[in-house]
Amino acid sequence: MARSAAVLVTTTVVVGLLPAPALAGGGHGEPTPGAPGIGDAYYPLDGNGGYDVEHYDLDLSYDPANDTIAGTATVEARATQHLSAFNLDLSGLEVREITVDGRSASWTREGQELTVEPRRPLREGRSFEVAVTYDGVPQTVQDALGGSGFFHTDDGAVVAGQPEGAATWFPANDHPLDAASVHVSIAVPEGLEGVSNGVLEESWTHDGWTTWEWDAEEPMATYLVTLAVGEFDLRAYEADGVRWWDAVDPGVATLDLDPAEGPLVGEYVDAALARQPEVLAFLADTFGPYPFSAAGAIVDDTPDLGFALETQTRPVYSPVFFTDPVLAEIVVVHELAHQWYGDSVRLAAWRDIWLNEGFATYAEWLWLEREGIATVQQQFDDLYANAETVFADGGPPFWTVLPGDPGAETSLLFHPAVYNRGAMTLHALRQVVGDTAFFQVLREWADTRAGEAVTTEEFVALAEEVAGRDLEDLFQAWLYTPERPALG
Ligand SMILES: [Zn+2]
Repeated sequence: MARSAAVLVTTTVVVGLLPAPALAGGGHGEPTPGAPGIGDAYYPLDGNGGYDVEHYDLDLSYDPANDTIAGTATVEARATQHLSAFNLDLSGLEVREITVDGRSASWTREGQELTVEPRRPLREGRSFEVAVTYDGVPQTVQDALGGSGFFHTDDGAVVAGQPEGAATWFPANDHPLDAASVHVSIAVPEGLEGVSNGVLEESWTHDGWTTWEWDAEEPMATYLVTLAVGEFDLRAYEADGVRWWDAVDPGVATLDLDPAEGPLVGEYVDAALARQPEVLAFLADTFGPYPFSAAGAIVDDTPDLGFALETQTRPVYSPVFFTDPVLAEIVVVHELAHQWYGDSVRLAAWRDIWLNEGFATYAEWLWLEREGIATVQQQFDDLYANAETVFADGGPPFWTVLPGDPGAETSLLFHPAVYNRGAMTLHALRQVVGDTAFFQVLREWADTRAGEAVTTEEFVALAEEVAGRDLEDLFQAWLYTPERPALG
């Protein structure tokens, strides 16, 4: 995720760490209910225990006339314990019917927890299919940073939310630990586009509705599933073997966010998106092959969306980034870098968010050096000297926020220190181990952990293995100490 300066918000509330829920049941003996949370220390009720999702098939319609989503979500999963019942995360909306393997099941709801009780228990290791038919008006998540998740726009909707939000529009095991392939079929009134992740398989019109079928075969965390409905200029092309779909709201063409300074937002959008294949090639040179078969962008003109998010294969961008040529490019670099670090290699726990944001920020620095704007060293030195002042926005002082354990409140999870001190951590590593070992670590991380959920401890172990030395003190100082580290 990238935040624009305009949406920096200050909050100093630190949410205490809640204990992870006890694992309910095991593989042996009597079937028991799956746990209501997957075990994230920051968000105890996110995700669920007792099963593993392999695929989501979302067969939905969205009508902008009444903001209503409707359809059936089919979740293919495998039981990881003997289950008498299991939970899905679903916030709001009306559940009409649930079946497990085609047989109707009973359910109860409490907050974001939808508890499904199949007619017969599910044995450990068994694959099963749960189909939830539902409808309603998805609610936008309100957090310390503003709106997030499902946004209703003047001509449709757009979805971008982290860490939560998927559960506001489809039933999910809503935590990055459990990723799955996703197929989205979205029916919208004829004349509008429906856009999601991955590859556009086909679209057809019947009875005044156009259905768009998108397929994302690589495993994806639920917060990375997107949907955009509205009037879009959908640009399909191929570059270096990657299939691109860019969806740009025609409204941005005439959008003027900076009247004094010349070009309209649309010109900056077009210029930045035109460089995407070049950015992807640069990142592939640095991090290793692009991990997905499709790529693209969604730029929607809605005033409510104040950030950009690395939704898998197709990031969503607020127009607010496209008021300056350099800012426009680095937000694209940031979200595309997340395809390696954040999407393909994904978080096992939200506490380790620096593994996403520190890496994407470091990619920005590498790009700025390539463009001759500033060297990585200059950017590090500048932050080392000035970060406390630059980011003195009323929140906790920059050097007191721990990138390796920032806190669950979104203003802390996405605090500038997570991004910038996270990137500085990587540069501190590079200074100690040298360029060859450093870039080998980045490439091996992307390659050997592709499609997996990871932790900071695993990254430190890889760095130590490649460098052949103990790096405990370095990471302790940069990630877990509430003060500015001394320079080595
Ligand atoms: Zn980011």
